[in-house]
Amino acid sequence: MSLDKAIPRFVADVMLGSLSRWLRLFGFDTLYSNDFDDRELIKISIQDDRILLTRDHSLARSKLLKKVLLIHSDDIREQIKEVLSAVQCSSDLCSFKPRCPVCNGEIQRVEKDSIKALIPDYVVFVGHDFMVCISCGKIYWHGTHKKKIDELKRKILQEIDRTHKK
Ligand SMILES: [Zn+2]
Repeated sequence: MSLDKAIPRFVADVMLGSLSRWLRLFGFDTLYSNDFDDRELIKISIQDDRILLTRDHSLARSKLLKKVLLIHSDDIREQIKEVLSAVQCSSDLCSFKPRCPVCNGEIQRVEKDSIKALIPDYVVFVGHDFMVCISCGKIYWHGTHKKKIDELKRKILQEIDRTHKK
């Protein structure tokens, strides 16, 4: 079995937009659209073998679903922890390549020269480690924003590691 296959994949209900973006940053293939209704969510979860993430108790109880996780918290940080704990993700097991938070596409490293024309001058000057989403074309680079994201990811994983050790 390839490692890719072992990484859990998700589809999230309309209440869980921020959680979806965070799971993508953690590297989880996560489908989200504010157009998905319950029927569609169930269909995607079954056909695509994705864990359905929902805040809706009655949807979570659907007998049709094989893989479903009811999210209890309103707090984004707690929501991320609920998901990562459920799939037994700890810092040593959970270091996947991030996906595009906007569209869930795969992100690839690119040379600065090849995208220079597409980014502001100051970014050409200060940015490094450029990445591009192969689906939507959004460009990412190492900077303060990325640093904050990495920091929060690290903290959340540490908190999860601690709960596992208890
Ligand atoms: Zn994208």
